[in-house]
Amino acid sequence: MQACTLIARAKINLYLEILGSRPDGYSEVAMVLQSVHLADRLQLKCRPHGIHLTCDCPEVPTDARNLAYRAAELLQKECHSSAGVEIHIEKHIPVAAGLAGGSADAAAVLVGLNQLWGLGLTVGELQSLAARLGSDIPFCVQGGTQLATGRGEVLEPLADWEGIPVLLAKPKHLGVSTAWAYQAFRSRRESLGANAPSEPALPTLPQALAALSRQDPPALARSLRNDLEQVVLPEYAIVGELRQALLSAGALGSLMSGSGPTVFGIMPSLELATQARDTLRRQFQNVEFWVTQFAPTGILLQPDPCSLSPT
Ligand code: ATP
Repeated sequence: MQACTLIARAKINLYLEILGSRPDGYSEVAMVLQSVHLADRLQLKCRPHGIHLTCDCPEVPTDARNLAYRAAELLQKECHSSAGVEIHIEKHIPVAAGLAGGSADAAAVLVGLNQLWGLGLTVGELQSLAARLGSDIPFCVQGGTQLATGRGEVLEPLADWEGIPVLLAKPKHLGVSTAWAYQAFRSRRESLGANAPSEPALPTLPQALAALSRQDPPALARSLRNDLEQVVLPEYAIVGELRQALLSAGALGSLMSGSGPTVFGIMPSLELATQARDTLRRQFQNVEFWVTQFAPTGILLQPDPCSLSPT
Protein backbone atom coordinates (compact mmCIF):
# COMPACT_ATOMS: atom_id res chain seq x y z
CA MET A 1 0.00 0.00 0.00
CA GLN A 2 1.40 3.40 -1.01
CA ALA A 3 -1.40 5.67 0.15
CA CYS A 4 -4.49 5.64 2.34
CA THR A 5 -7.29 7.81 3.67
CA LEU A 6 -8.16 7.84 7.38
CA ILE A 7 -11.25 8.99 9.21
CA ALA A 8 -10.16 10.36 12.61
CA ARG A 9 -13.12 10.77 14.96
CA ALA A 10 -13.66 13.30 17.74
CA LYS A 11 -14.44 12.23 21.31
CA ILE A 12 -16.63 13.55 24.08
CA ASN A 13 -16.16 12.96 27.82
CA LEU A 14 -19.27 11.42 29.35
CA TYR A 15 -17.53 11.46 32.73
CA LEU A 16 -14.38 13.28 33.90
CA GLU A 17 -13.42 13.10 37.56
CA ILE A 18 -10.14 14.51 38.82
CA LEU A 19 -8.86 12.28 41.61
CA GLY A 20 -5.65 14.12 42.49
CA SER A 21 -2.25 15.33 41.32
CA ARG A 22 0.59 13.04 40.27
CA PRO A 23 4.32 13.55 40.85
CA ASP A 24 4.83 13.79 37.04
CA GLY A 25 2.70 16.97 36.96
CA TYR A 26 -0.35 15.33 35.35
CA SER A 27 -3.69 14.82 37.09
CA GLU A 28 -4.95 11.39 38.14
CA VAL A 29 -8.31 11.02 36.38
CA ALA A 30 -11.24 8.66 35.86
CA MET A 31 -12.93 9.34 32.53
CA VAL A 32 -15.45 7.73 30.26
CA LEU A 33 -14.57 8.62 26.69
CA GLN A 34 -16.90 8.20 23.74
CA SER A 35 -16.12 8.49 20.01
CA VAL A 36 -18.61 10.41 17.87
CA HIS A 37 -18.99 10.47 14.08
CA LEU A 38 -17.72 14.06 13.67
CA ALA A 39 -14.27 13.45 12.14
CA ASP A 40 -11.21 14.86 10.39
CA ARG A 41 -10.08 13.23 7.16
CA LEU A 42 -6.38 12.51 6.58
CA GLN A 43 -4.59 11.46 3.42
CA LEU A 44 -1.25 9.72 3.79
CA LYS A 45 1.08 9.10 0.85
CA CYS A 46 4.48 7.37 1.03
CA ARG A 47 7.50 9.40 -0.08
CA PRO A 48 11.17 8.37 -0.09
CA HIS A 49 12.12 10.47 2.93
CA GLY A 50 11.02 13.38 5.13
CA ILE A 51 7.69 14.35 6.65
CA HIS A 52 5.58 16.90 4.80
CA LEU A 53 2.30 18.05 6.32
CA THR A 54 -0.44 20.32 4.96
CA CYS A 55 -3.77 21.29 6.49
CA ASP A 56 -6.80 23.17 5.14
CA CYS A 57 -7.21 25.07 8.44
CA PRO A 58 -4.81 28.04 8.73
CA GLU A 59 -4.82 28.10 12.55
CA VAL A 60 -3.36 24.57 12.75
CA PRO A 61 0.46 24.45 12.69
CA THR A 62 2.00 22.28 9.95
CA ASP A 63 5.43 21.77 11.52
CA ALA A 64 6.61 19.73 14.53
CA ARG A 65 4.02 21.52 16.72
CA ASN A 66 1.36 19.47 14.95
CA LEU A 67 0.56 16.27 16.87
CA ALA A 68 0.13 14.31 13.61
CA TYR A 69 3.62 15.41 12.49
CA ARG A 70 5.02 14.38 15.88
CA ALA A 71 3.36 10.97 15.57
CA ALA A 72 5.14 10.35 12.24
CA GLU A 73 8.45 11.56 13.69
CA LEU A 74 8.10 9.26 16.72
CA LEU A 75 7.40 6.21 14.52
CA GLN A 76 10.43 7.00 12.32
CA LYS A 77 12.64 7.20 15.39
CA GLU A 78 11.27 4.21 17.30
CA CYS A 79 11.17 1.91 14.26
CA HIS A 80 14.51 3.15 12.84
CA SER A 81 12.73 3.88 9.59
CA SER A 82 14.05 6.27 6.98
CA ALA A 83 10.76 6.16 5.04
CA GLY A 84 8.90 9.43 4.54
CA VAL A 85 5.28 10.52 4.27
CA GLU A 86 3.08 13.25 2.90
CA ILE A 87 0.16 14.02 5.25
CA HIS A 88 -2.84 16.17 4.36
CA ILE A 89 -5.37 16.98 7.09
CA GLU A 90 -8.89 18.09 6.21
CA LYS A 91 -10.14 19.60 9.47
CA HIS A 92 -13.78 19.17 10.47
CA ILE A 93 -13.28 18.84 14.25
CA PRO A 94 -13.07 22.35 15.76
CA VAL A 95 -9.64 23.26 17.17
CA ALA A 96 -8.94 23.59 20.93
CA ALA A 97 -12.55 22.61 21.57
CA GLY A 98 -12.25 19.72 24.07
CA LEU A 99 -13.01 17.20 21.32
CA ALA A 100 -9.45 15.80 20.97
CA GLY A 101 -9.09 16.82 17.31
CA GLY A 102 -5.29 16.92 17.39
CA SER A 103 -5.17 13.64 19.32
CA ALA A 104 -7.43 11.94 16.76
CA ASP A 105 -5.16 13.12 13.91
CA ALA A 106 -2.07 11.79 15.72
CA ALA A 107 -3.75 8.43 16.35
CA ALA A 108 -4.74 8.24 12.66
CA VAL A 109 -1.12 8.80 11.59
CA LEU A 110 0.09 6.03 13.94
CA VAL A 111 -2.52 3.60 12.56
CA GLY A 112 -1.97 4.65 8.92
CA LEU A 113 1.84 4.58 8.94
CA ASN A 114 1.86 1.21 10.70
CA GLN A 115 0.21 -0.09 7.50
CA LEU A 116 1.98 2.07 4.90
CA TRP A 117 5.46 1.46 6.31
CA GLY A 118 4.68 -2.21 7.09
CA LEU A 119 5.77 -1.86 10.73
CA GLY A 120 3.62 -4.68 12.12
CA LEU A 121 3.02 -2.97 15.49
CA THR A 122 0.17 -4.31 17.63
CA VAL A 123 -2.65 -2.07 18.90
CA GLY A 124 -1.03 -2.22 22.38
CA GLU A 125 2.32 -1.08 20.96
CA LEU A 126 0.65 1.77 19.06
CA GLN A 127 -1.13 2.83 22.26
CA SER A 128 2.16 2.85 24.24
CA LEU A 129 3.72 5.11 21.62
CA ALA A 130 0.56 7.23 21.62
CA ALA A 131 0.81 7.75 25.39
CA ARG A 132 4.20 9.43 24.85
CA LEU A 133 2.57 12.04 22.61
CA GLY A 134 -0.50 12.94 24.69
CA SER A 135 -3.01 11.60 27.21
CA ASP A 136 -6.05 11.30 24.88
CA ILE A 137 -4.15 9.70 21.95
CA PRO A 138 -4.14 6.05 23.22
CA PHE A 139 -7.95 6.21 23.46
CA CYS A 140 -8.25 7.59 19.92
CA VAL A 141 -6.31 4.62 18.45
CA GLN A 142 -9.27 2.31 19.12
CA GLY A 143 -12.03 4.67 20.20
CA GLY A 144 -15.59 3.51 20.87
CA THR A 145 -16.60 3.67 24.54
CA GLN A 146 -13.74 3.29 27.05
CA LEU A 147 -12.93 3.88 30.69
CA ALA A 148 -9.64 5.77 30.98
CA THR A 149 -7.70 6.02 34.24
CA GLY A 150 -4.16 7.00 35.27
CA ARG A 151 -3.52 10.20 33.32
CA GLY A 152 -5.95 8.89 30.68
CA GLU A 153 -3.70 6.26 29.14
CA VAL A 154 -4.88 3.18 31.11
CA LEU A 155 -7.81 1.97 29.03
CA GLU A 156 -10.61 -0.50 29.56
CA PRO A 157 -13.05 -0.98 26.67
CA LEU A 158 -16.73 -0.79 27.64
CA ALA A 159 -19.64 -2.29 25.70
CA ASP A 160 -20.17 -0.41 22.42
CA TRP A 161 -23.19 1.81 22.36
CA GLU A 162 -23.81 3.04 18.85
CA GLY A 163 -26.09 5.65 17.42
CA ILE A 164 -27.05 7.72 20.49
CA PRO A 165 -27.82 11.21 19.06
CA VAL A 166 -25.65 14.06 20.30
CA LEU A 167 -25.88 17.80 19.68
CA LEU A 168 -22.55 19.64 19.94
CA ALA A 169 -22.32 23.40 20.55
CA LYS A 170 -19.05 25.34 20.31
CA PRO A 171 -18.70 29.12 20.69
CA LYS A 172 -16.97 30.45 17.55
CA HIS A 173 -13.52 32.00 18.01
CA LEU A 174 -13.18 30.60 21.55
CA GLY A 175 -10.64 27.94 22.48
CA VAL A 176 -9.73 26.74 25.97
CA SER A 177 -6.23 25.46 26.71
CA THR A 178 -6.34 22.01 28.31
CA ALA A 179 -3.17 22.75 30.31
CA TRP A 180 -4.74 25.95 31.70
CA ALA A 181 -7.95 24.17 32.76
CA TYR A 182 -6.13 21.40 34.69
CA GLN A 183 -3.76 23.93 36.29
CA ALA A 184 -6.65 26.16 37.33
CA PHE A 185 -8.46 23.16 38.84
CA ARG A 186 -5.33 22.19 40.82
CA SER A 187 -4.79 25.77 42.07
CA ARG A 188 -8.45 26.02 43.10
CA ARG A 189 -8.30 22.74 45.01
CA GLU A 190 -5.02 23.76 46.73
CA SER A 191 -6.24 27.22 47.68
CA LEU A 192 -9.58 25.96 48.99
CA GLY A 193 -7.97 23.07 50.90
CA ALA A 194 -10.11 21.99 53.83
CA ASN A 195 -12.39 25.03 53.28
CA ALA A 196 -13.69 23.68 49.98
CA PRO A 197 -17.45 24.22 49.81
CA SER A 198 -19.22 20.89 49.65
CA GLU A 199 -20.20 20.36 46.01
CA PRO A 200 -23.82 19.40 45.35
CA ALA A 201 -23.83 15.59 45.24
CA LEU A 202 -21.98 14.85 42.02
CA PRO A 203 -22.62 11.67 40.04
CA THR A 204 -20.15 8.85 40.71
CA LEU A 205 -18.25 6.53 38.38
CA PRO A 206 -20.27 3.44 39.40
CA GLN A 207 -23.45 5.35 38.46
CA ALA A 208 -22.03 6.23 35.05
CA LEU A 209 -20.81 2.66 34.42
CA ALA A 210 -24.19 1.21 35.45
CA ALA A 211 -26.02 3.56 33.05
CA LEU A 212 -23.64 2.54 30.26
CA SER A 213 -23.96 -1.18 30.92
CA ARG A 214 -27.78 -0.90 30.96
CA GLN A 215 -27.60 1.30 27.83
CA ASP A 216 -30.10 3.60 29.50
CA PRO A 217 -29.97 7.15 28.01
CA PRO A 218 -31.91 8.95 30.81
CA ALA A 219 -29.68 7.28 33.46
CA LEU A 220 -26.60 8.22 31.43
CA ALA A 221 -27.87 11.80 31.26
CA ARG A 222 -28.17 11.85 35.07
CA SER A 223 -24.63 10.51 35.55
CA LEU A 224 -22.80 13.04 33.32
CA ARG A 225 -19.95 14.73 35.21
CA ASN A 226 -16.99 16.94 34.31
CA ASP A 227 -14.92 18.38 37.20
CA LEU A 228 -13.26 20.91 34.88
CA GLU A 229 -16.59 22.75 34.66
CA GLN A 230 -15.80 24.07 38.16
CA VAL A 231 -13.06 26.30 36.67
CA VAL A 232 -14.22 26.79 33.07
CA LEU A 233 -17.84 27.83 33.79
CA PRO A 234 -16.95 30.80 36.05
CA GLU A 235 -14.43 32.01 33.44
CA TYR A 236 -16.55 31.55 30.28
CA ALA A 237 -20.23 32.31 30.96
CA ILE A 238 -21.26 31.18 27.47
CA VAL A 239 -20.40 27.56 28.36
CA GLY A 240 -22.97 27.50 31.19
CA GLU A 241 -25.51 29.31 28.98
CA LEU A 242 -25.11 26.66 26.28
CA ARG A 243 -25.55 23.84 28.80
CA GLN A 244 -28.86 25.37 29.88
CA ALA A 245 -29.93 26.10 26.31
CA LEU A 246 -29.36 22.46 25.27
CA LEU A 247 -31.51 21.27 28.19
CA SER A 248 -34.26 23.76 27.31
CA ALA A 249 -34.10 22.53 23.71
CA GLY A 250 -34.88 18.98 24.81
CA ALA A 251 -31.55 17.36 25.73
CA LEU A 252 -31.83 14.56 28.31
CA GLY A 253 -28.59 15.85 29.83
CA SER A 254 -25.80 18.24 28.84
CA LEU A 255 -22.14 18.64 29.78
CA MET A 256 -18.94 20.40 28.76
CA SER A 257 -16.58 18.04 26.91
CA GLY A 258 -12.96 17.80 28.14
CA SER A 259 -11.60 21.24 28.92
CA GLY A 260 -14.28 22.86 26.76
CA PRO A 261 -15.55 25.12 25.45
CA THR A 262 -17.67 22.59 23.49
CA VAL A 263 -20.85 21.51 25.25
CA PHE A 264 -22.81 18.43 24.22
CA GLY A 265 -26.39 17.32 24.77
CA ILE A 266 -27.60 13.71 24.80
CA MET A 267 -30.70 13.92 22.60
CA PRO A 268 -33.79 11.67 22.64
CA SER A 269 -33.80 11.30 18.82
CA LEU A 270 -31.99 12.49 15.69
CA GLU A 271 -35.11 14.36 14.65
CA LEU A 272 -35.22 16.32 17.92
CA ALA A 273 -31.46 16.92 17.70
CA THR A 274 -31.87 18.47 14.24
CA GLN A 275 -34.82 20.61 15.35
CA ALA A 276 -32.93 21.79 18.44
CA ARG A 277 -29.88 22.64 16.27
CA ASP A 278 -32.01 24.77 13.94
CA THR A 279 -33.71 26.60 16.83
CA LEU A 280 -30.45 27.22 18.70
CA ARG A 281 -28.66 28.42 15.55
CA ARG A 282 -31.17 31.28 15.35
CA GLN A 283 -30.71 32.05 19.06
CA PHE A 284 -26.87 31.88 19.20
CA GLN A 285 -25.29 33.39 16.11
CA ASN A 286 -21.75 33.10 17.45
CA VAL A 287 -22.01 29.41 18.19
CA GLU A 288 -21.49 26.46 15.83
CA PHE A 289 -23.70 23.39 16.16
CA TRP A 290 -23.31 19.82 14.89
CA VAL A 291 -25.67 16.87 15.11
CA THR A 292 -23.69 13.68 15.51
CA GLN A 293 -23.97 10.22 17.13
CA PHE A 294 -21.96 7.83 19.31
CA ALA A 295 -19.55 5.86 17.08
CA PRO A 296 -18.12 2.40 17.77
CA THR A 297 -14.50 3.10 16.67
CA GLY A 298 -12.01 5.97 16.62
CA ILE A 299 -10.07 5.51 13.37
CA LEU A 300 -11.19 4.09 10.04
CA LEU A 301 -8.53 3.22 7.46
CA GLN A 302 -9.44 3.14 3.79
CA PRO A 303 -6.64 1.98 1.45
CA ASP A 304 -6.31 4.07 -1.69
CA PRO A 305 -7.42 1.55 -4.38
CA CYS A 306 -4.86 2.86 -6.93
CA SER A 307 -2.00 2.24 -4.52
CA LEU A 308 -2.63 -1.41 -3.62
CA SER A 309 0.15 -3.60 -4.98
CA PRO A 310 -1.12 -6.18 -7.52
CA THR A 311 -1.41 -9.69 -6.03
P1 ATP B 1 -8.12 17.69 23.99
O1 ATP B 1 -9.62 17.49 24.02
O2 ATP B 1 -7.34 16.42 23.67
O3 ATP B 1 -7.55 18.43 25.12
P2 ATP B 1 -8.60 19.83 22.15
O4 ATP B 1 -9.71 19.31 21.28
O5 ATP B 1 -9.00 20.73 23.27
O6 ATP B 1 -7.80 18.59 22.71
P3 ATP B 1 -7.00 20.28 19.83
O7 ATP B 1 -8.03 20.57 18.77
O8 ATP B 1 -6.35 18.96 19.78
O9 ATP B 1 -7.58 20.58 21.28
O10 ATP B 1 -5.94 21.48 19.71
C1 ATP B 1 -5.16 21.94 20.78
C2 ATP B 1 -3.95 22.71 20.24
O11 ATP B 1 -3.09 21.79 19.59
C3 ATP B 1 -4.32 23.74 19.18
O12 ATP B 1 -4.16 25.01 19.72
C4 ATP B 1 -3.39 23.50 18.00
O13 ATP B 1 -2.56 24.58 17.71
C5 ATP B 1 -2.52 22.31 18.40
N1 ATP B 1 -2.52 21.22 17.41
C6 ATP B 1 -1.48 20.41 17.17
N2 ATP B 1 -1.78 19.50 16.23
C7 ATP B 1 -3.06 19.71 15.87
C8 ATP B 1 -3.94 19.07 14.95
N3 ATP B 1 -3.55 18.04 14.19
N4 ATP B 1 -5.21 19.52 14.87
C9 ATP B 1 -5.61 20.55 15.66
N5 ATP B 1 -4.82 21.21 16.52
C10 ATP B 1 -3.55 20.79 16.65
